[in-house]
Amino acid sequence: MSFSDIPVDVGPVYEGERIRANQMYVELGGPKIEKHFELVKVRDAKQIKDGEVILKGPDLKDMEEGSRYPIGILVEVAGKQLEEDLEAVFERRIHEFCNFINGVMHLNQRYTNWMRISKTAVAKGFNSFKMLGQVLIRLFKAELPIIEQAQVTIITDEKEIEKPYEMAMETYSKRDERALGLHDEDVDMFYGCVLCQSFAPTHVCCITPDRTSLCGSINWFDARAAAKVDPKGPIFEIPPGECLNKLAGEYTGINETMKKRSLGELSRVYLYSGMEYPHTSCGCFEAIDFYIPEVNGHGIIDRSHEGVAINGLPFSAMANQTGGGKQMPGFNGISIQYIISPKYQQYDGGISTVVWMGKSVKERVYDFLPEDIRDKIATQEEVAELSELKQWLIEHDHPIVKTWKEEVEEEEEEEAYAEEAGAMIPIGTQALTIPGAGGMGGFKIILKNCKIHAEAIIIKKLEPKKKKK
Ligand code: SF4
Ligand code: ZN
Repeated sequence: MSFSDIPVDVGPVYEGERIRANQMYVELGGPKIEKHFELVKVRDAKQIKDGEVILKGPDLKDMEEGSRYPIGILVEVAGKQLEEDLEAVFERRIHEFCNFINGVMHLNQRYTNWMRISKTAVAKGFNSFKMLGQVLIRLFKAELPIIEQAQVTIITDEKEIEKPYEMAMETYSKRDERALGLHDEDVDMFYGCVLCQSFAPTHVCCITPDRTSLCGSINWFDARAAAKVDPKGPIFEIPPGECLNKLAGEYTGINETMKKRSLGELSRVYLYSGMEYPHTSCGCFEAIDFYIPEVNGHGIIDRSHEGVAINGLPFSAMANQTGGGKQMPGFNGISIQYIISPKYQQYDGGISTVVWMGKSVKERVYDFLPEDIRDKIATQEEVAELSELKQWLIEHDHPIVKTWKEEVEEEEEEEAYAEEAGAMIPIGTQALTIPGAGGMGGFKIILKNCKIHAEAIIIKKLEPKKKKK
């Protein structure tokens, strides 16, 4: 495969390249553009023209420096062994292949795709989307040999993108609906994906029927199809092994695979918890589940959220905290599909611990949320200030309120005990819950009216000693 006719370098070495606003020639898609997408479709060989790149809308060279345009990337592929189930997995590779190009930055997927082309690349002569299309065609055919023919259509015109955008949205919904009826206990194989290790080297996705990949683009069916055609590829089987904890979703097979594939960084993963041994997050999660210690509940924010969440942080700041392939109790990158799974963070208390959601994500999942909870979850329209959240939850009889009473009772019991023991009880309380330490079966540290100076704090879980036989 040669890229000698492409005026910039192409290769995996450029993955991870960042193009800042002042370095960009144009921006394509992203949060400021309404309709944009990327999609792969499997076609009959007769329906497409191999090697063809079709452009609908202004080309790169006709765009004004510093401007923003829609972007639609439709990759149509054909091959004897191809099946529809592979579309989503192929589609995820658009991200990787675009990032191979020096001077092209690609983020996210589906209808949240976001690209920038650098001024340097355009100055070197990379000034046409036809080149981008050619690179994609060559990489798709070289990296995925079961693709025998490929055609790429790139759309940059606001009007032209409308119909294909609708078609893309329908395809995504169809894929998501199919995954809805299947649950983890119905299958005997899970799948892993390490495609994002080029950005987050210790990140491993575990894809199960209930836990669609956090990028939202690969569900269990898609992963199964990918592992079948390329078992040694980035998507592979994970035999679940023994279930160690049903509520948490802890399996011996997942733990072993995580350890191996994360180069020893991870040893335990609870599929259904954002608080204890949470699934790692790379950077392309559709949404973030975050703990709100002030109300002992959880919030969810998605990429399209404008402004800050209830904790005062915008998506971008929380994304930095969440991503990177580390286990981050209290911040968990998730797919939107997972929110509507009955297993959603069930170890932490499930959907009934969600007290706040960004409006955009709530609208998307509203019909699938349990009826008795959905109107008790605030959005920025009802509550924008954290100081008002508690009262709103009380007024709306949110189930989380009960957990506060239990906590107060526990605290009172502890105080009574301390008094009996002759300890000094401070006047007034300042409670600080350490996120990540909570959750069912976890623990909480409350610091009251105290000043602490410490160079380090080490918290160790004491394992009960094994009984001697
Ligand atoms: Fe694969 Fe996970 Fe990355 Fe999606 S987020 S491409 S499933 S590693
Ligand atoms: Zn990722």
